[in-house]
Amino acid sequence: MAASIIDGKAFAAKVREKVAEHVSRLKADHGITPGLAVVLVGEDPASQVYVRNKGKQTVECGMQSFEHKLPVDTPEADLLALVARLNADPAVHGILVQLPLPAHMNADAVINAIDPAKDVDGFHISNVGLLGTGQKSMVPCTPLGCLMMLREQLGSLSGLNAVVIGRSNIVGKPMAQLLLGESCTVTIAHSRTKDLPEVVRRADIVVAAVGRPQMVPGDWIKPGATVIDVGINRIDVPETGKTRLVGDVDYDSCAQVAGAITPVPGGVGPMTIACLLANTVTACCRANGLAEPEGLTA
Ligand code: NDP
Repeated sequence: MAASIIDGKAFAAKVREKVAEHVSRLKADHGITPGLAVVLVGEDPASQVYVRNKGKQTVECGMQSFEHKLPVDTPEADLLALVARLNADPAVHGILVQLPLPAHMNADAVINAIDPAKDVDGFHISNVGLLGTGQKSMVPCTPLGCLMMLREQLGSLSGLNAVVIGRSNIVGKPMAQLLLGESCTVTIAHSRTKDLPEVVRRADIVVAAVGRPQMVPGDWIKPGATVIDVGINRIDVPETGKTRLVGDVDYDSCAQVAGAITPVPGGVGPMTIACLLANTVTACCRANGLAEPEGLTA
């Protein structure tokens, strides 16, 4: 039987709706408007598109958007000074410094200069530590989006075998921590994993975050498993002379075996920005000692 398709685009729209409702309540009941500051250094075309989309969706949800575009040769000290100003600005509840930064900057130093309470990307070392010890933290947006989709699809995840392929700091590791927090039995696979197909075949949940087009074929998937494809890879289509986006799993063969699967595009991707907006509202509520929005946190 063919897998059900987990529609990330529709789910992200629902998340944005919840965010917008919470924002109007914050405004009406407390006179507070959540604000998100996005900092872009340089002119990387993909980053410019992301930043534009983030700004647009922030405003559409009723929040304030502050965009800071700095030239590519900005000294690191100037960027750190801007981060310090945003940390001190009470109208700013979330700060995101778009990565990658130019080579002359130390990304870790910049990220760790952000006030952890405003670190809506969840990359600050304090948030990494809080998540790793099961405490309340800001959770990285992509794994948070994956978790929300898994909860919606499966309800309780307790006791399920989860395999995360990829161990990056921004996706694989936080994803594994979140699944552990849901009481899954978690395996993290990576480029040195032995017999990856067998490891993946044991999984009730597969999260692929590798960056290799269509690497996971259907015969690695346990029948009925839930497959979350984080990968975004652009490949050539020789027949048309054009390109198209594919994930890290081979969608056609995996969809024959899985119970549910996210498509690429239209799966994890749209959830990432939706979760950034969710994190901004959460940060705003925490900053003001107010109840956090239900269903928008880990
Ligand atoms: P990284 O390159 O940082 O990490 C890739 C991971 O995959 C590494 O841990 C690497 O292992 C592992 N890996 C590489 N080759 C293999 C292999 N043959 N078998 C098993 N594991 C392997 O990537 P990211 O985590 O940043 O991103 C992963 C994918 O997700 C990319 O396609 C990216 O574009 C996409 N992405 C999508 C987002 C979204 O919003 N949808 C957001 C972020 C990323 P090792 O550590 O041993 O090298």
